[in-house]
Amino acid sequence: MTIMTKTTFCEPCRALRSIEDWHETRDEILSIVLGPCGHVVRRTARLEWSVPSRARLRLVRRASDHEQVAMS
Ligand SMILES: [Zn+2]
Repeated sequence: MTIMTKTTFCEPCRALRSIEDWHETRDEILSIVLGPCGHVVRRTARLEWSVPSRARLRLVRRASDHEQVAMS
């Protein structure tokens, strides 16, 4: 079984970070929590993700208790 390790570019850090958590807002914007820095980036849902829909189903959606870590 392959463990998915997704990364995305963290603009504040100017570096690639791993995706720790994510959730989709009602505006179809993905808020993605990055690790280990804890920054949150927003992506337009479905457009920028090249992840096959089958793979997306494997992502475990946790309670979005990380979202307040964001822009403090
Ligand atoms: Zn960062």
